[in-house]
Amino acid sequence: MAQLIWFRNDLRLRDNPAVASALQRAGENGNVYGLFLYSEEQWRRHDWAPIKVDLLWRHLELLQQEAAEWGIELHIKSCRDWQTVPRVVRDFCGEYGITEVSFNREYPVHEQRRDRATQSWLAEQSIAVNSFHGMVIVPPVLRTQAGDYYKKFTPYYKSWLAHIQRSGLPQPYEKPERKALKPLGMPSAPDYPRCDSGAYVVGEEAAYQQLQQFVDERVADYDTDRDLPAIHGTSRLSPYWELGILSPVTAARLLQQQAPEFPHGLAEGAATWLSELAWREFYQHLMDAEPRLSYGKAFQAHTDAFAWSDDDAQFQAWCEGQTGYPIVDAGMRQLQQEGWMHNRVRMIVANFLVKDLHIDWRRGEKFFMQNLIDGSFPANNGGWQWSASTGTDAVPYFRVFNPTSQSKKVDPDGSYIRRFVKELVNCPTQEIHAPAKWARAAQVDYPEPIVDHAQARETFLRKFKAL
Ligand code: FAD
Repeated sequence: MAQLIWFRNDLRLRDNPAVASALQRAGENGNVYGLFLYSEEQWRRHDWAPIKVDLLWRHLELLQQEAAEWGIELHIKSCRDWQTVPRVVRDFCGEYGITEVSFNREYPVHEQRRDRATQSWLAEQSIAVNSFHGMVIVPPVLRTQAGDYYKKFTPYYKSWLAHIQRSGLPQPYEKPERKALKPLGMPSAPDYPRCDSGAYVVGEEAAYQQLQQFVDERVADYDTDRDLPAIHGTSRLSPYWELGILSPVTAARLLQQQAPEFPHGLAEGAATWLSELAWREFYQHLMDAEPRLSYGKAFQAHTDAFAWSDDDAQFQAWCEGQTGYPIVDAGMRQLQQEGWMHNRVRMIVANFLVKDLHIDWRRGEKFFMQNLIDGSFPANNGGWQWSASTGTDAVPYFRVFNPTSQSKKVDPDGSYIRRFVKELVNCPTQEIHAPAKWARAAQVDYPEPIVDHAQARETFLRKFKAL
């Protein structure tokens, strides 16, 4: 009677329903194995960023050690692609005498297909499968009164809060009383580009400390600080939810300590942060309900008729942070340097690519995935379609961000810009949001704006309206 925990982007032992289930069924003495399958081919197809792979690999080593202390023998194996997974899992089960498999569900189409196929192969061998919604606080089961899935965030969020109020949060569990094992050791490193993720801690405990520190010290100011990219006003925990090193349930439980009527009754900062965790789940819920999102389709199908620009030089300038719009360039250079970008700036650069350069949002979406340490298909797709006005509950198409006034608003003294656009370090604050004149006079090598915002806006509005 051996148990298998099939790990995927849920790389933790605590607050992981698949782990809890396998441990409970195995009891003190039953064998528990873990299996993590990765595929370089799949990473390539899904544009995994080298920095995300690096974080994953660093974390896996610690997870394997900690799993061994919990009496779980974690195997890390490569496979060609998701099509080969059912055979690999079945063979593993055969080799180790597995009788039950537990895993947490993922919602994009290819992952769902992989899991269904594996489940039916396992059923043929009479191996039981237990699946859970361990990546989210609320499973993607919420429906409107008419039985449809939610397409607007606000009613979804109301229903999401009501679900938590009704069901409560799962209880935490402790490290089980089981004999510790010797870790198996890591396989040779994957044949995939890597980029140093050392600025991010790894291991469940270290990530948890960061979460706790944020909730104790900074969440109270989140509502006022979150839109200012120059300061450390957000949690920067996104890579940890994406790889499942932390569970959002753990975060919710910490917030619960601040309000007895949780999920209601939180102070402004904590309530706003909780709603951001709900945005993450809203996009997973859409991904689950709308398979066409997994195929690169716009949620609002008619917007696919937009005649996008194929100006590669402008796309390149955007990627390299050379557009002549300092806030856009600072954001894109932050992405290149840190593998992360502040949310407000993600919105500004996405808006700029689509509404000023008229370049297909899918090119921006891909570039983000190729570079983000927190690259998440549902959140990234949702963020891009929101910004491009092609998504559900997206920003209305006629709201085109003005990159210069956005810059003045979110980075009033220019300190975020100066941190990433070194050419502008000496630019006076009153010039820094539109520095062309100053750069010419000071003979500083910073590009002129690559488009005229007012003109680009008019053209975008005319073309989008015609759809
Ligand atoms: P915090 O402000 O501390 O928020 C807490 C958590 O809530 C985040 O860690 C994240 O998991 C979630 N969250 C916050 N805002 C959003 C949002 N708008 N949508 C979905 N979840 C949210 N987030 C990703 O995790 N991966 C992506 O690939 C991604 N791509 C994006 C692309 C675009 C164009 C835009 C506009 C947003 C994107 N986001 C993405 C959402 C958001 O920018 C990041 O989650 C956030 O910047 C992460 O920083 P943080 O952990 O400090 O967030």
